[in-house]
Amino acid sequence: MDRFDPATINVRSGHFIGGEYVDVHGPRIDVARPSDGAVYASVPVADAELIERAVQNAWTAFRTSSWARIAPRERARVLRRFADLVAADAATLAPLEALGSTRPVRDAFNWDVPFTAEGIRFYAEFADKIGGDVAATDHDHLGMTIAEPYGVIGAIAPWNFPLVMASWKVAPALAAGNAVVLKPSEMTPFSVLRLAELAVEAGVPPGIFNVVQGDGRTTGDALVRHPRIAKVTFTGSTRTGAAIMAACAETGTKPVTLELGGKSPQIVFADAPRLDDVARRIAGAITGNAGQVCVAGSRLLVERSIADELADRIQRLFSEPRAGATWSPDTTLPPIISEPQAARIEAIVGRSVASGATLRCGGHRADAATPGAFYMPTLLTDVTPQTDAVREEIFGPVLTLQTFDTEDAALALAAHPDYGLAAGVHTADLGRALRMVRGIEAGTVWVNRYGRTSDFMIPTGGFKRSGIGKDLGRQAYEANLRFKSVLIDARV
Ligand code: NAD
Repeated sequence: MDRFDPATINVRSGHFIGGEYVDVHGPRIDVARPSDGAVYASVPVADAELIERAVQNAWTAFRTSSWARIAPRERARVLRRFADLVAADAATLAPLEALGSTRPVRDAFNWDVPFTAEGIRFYAEFADKIGGDVAATDHDHLGMTIAEPYGVIGAIAPWNFPLVMASWKVAPALAAGNAVVLKPSEMTPFSVLRLAELAVEAGVPPGIFNVVQGDGRTTGDALVRHPRIAKVTFTGSTRTGAAIMAACAETGTKPVTLELGGKSPQIVFADAPRLDDVARRIAGAITGNAGQVCVAGSRLLVERSIADELADRIQRLFSEPRAGATWSPDTTLPPIISEPQAARIEAIVGRSVASGATLRCGGHRADAATPGAFYMPTLLTDVTPQTDAVREEIFGPVLTLQTFDTEDAALALAAHPDYGLAAGVHTADLGRALRMVRGIEAGTVWVNRYGRTSDFMIPTGGFKRSGIGKDLGRQAYEANLRFKSVLIDARV
């Protein structure tokens, strides 16, 4: 699927609680299509009262349904069916995802939806793999740990990959036997509702997977503070992550998983094989989803002797993406999520140029057939670690270029004062690659590639202010379990 008519898509709005749509009177938020700015629907804003209803519903389902108690293989079977339904629903889910987000429908159909389904299937396979441990004790005792679900998990998702990000939260939580209350971004609230419907259709008991709509200040805050929320899992900005962590500390010392912002370096040594391929990798890592990717490779660090050559190639590649609506087959540069976000990108680039940066290309809006906010891939040189575009997470297609002469200098530039989400190293020298891997403070380091594969066992997560804990991998599954220690005395 590579196109659709946006006028033909009907969205179902509301909260999804106890397996049903719930819509109540009260304040609402208009929802606009990033591709053309048109308001196409609205969502209700869940207040503390509605959150109470959703969380109590989830708690009741957790306590009274079979979900936490059935044989784990049965839970796995339901989740595999859920994954199958998601994959089979791609023709509905992909346009729904593309309509309200920055994901071109071809990508949503070929990647986001199948990747969401596969993530659910991956965690289904975990359901009967981790049950706890037996401890070595004397023969009069039996000591063990039992892995148990927390109860109700509060999950909060961002707008940049609405289905995929939500599934990374929801799938491990459900597989471990928890109930979930998910709050999507108020900018991309609809596709996850379909996900919740499909979960019920697959046999997940009503009330085990709930969706509440609203903004961060009212709805998100009430959700994380609710006393029955036993754990919070969040993906979004570092600032919001810190606020959520504080709220969790104040209201029950709840554990948190935080997947936050980044400013990830791409380090290219002069010996990197096939410079054309390297240039393509670098360009793709900052233009994909118009740079609205947490692990966007936004800081290019190049060995001085090849800097000009690489910059020329990247500049050529930066002229290739075609701006357009997410429903158009030709689009390779999708819109920026909102007008304020596009204005913020412009302001950071403007301040950077004013402070001495050179604009090699871009630095302006793109022409597109629709009135959405499109920003051209931008390359800034003559920057320093103090330049705004080097320090701040931009979340747009803006790449800065700095040069180095030695490995130590590359490592010094790679270290960001706040962020440590991901990094790329491009070199033919294995010893050097390993020295860089050891030296870089980041949760993920890619060598001679950039970006994840479909190997779900490889977790993702940040160091420093880029986050706490992991999504994906065994780690994300275990983070949805708590371990109860039991000691049985047999001398009775
Ligand atoms: P955001 O922090 O503005 O919002 C994320 C979510 O948090 C939204 O659902 C929002 O409504 C909610 N929220 C806002 N304030 C809240 C509060 N006080 N309490 C509870 N919830 C609140 O982030 P965004 O603009 O939606 O997403 C972009 C950010 O997400 C970027 O910084 C990006 O790097 C980050 N991100 C990180 C990863 C990762 O895996 N590390 C992945 C995707 C995006």
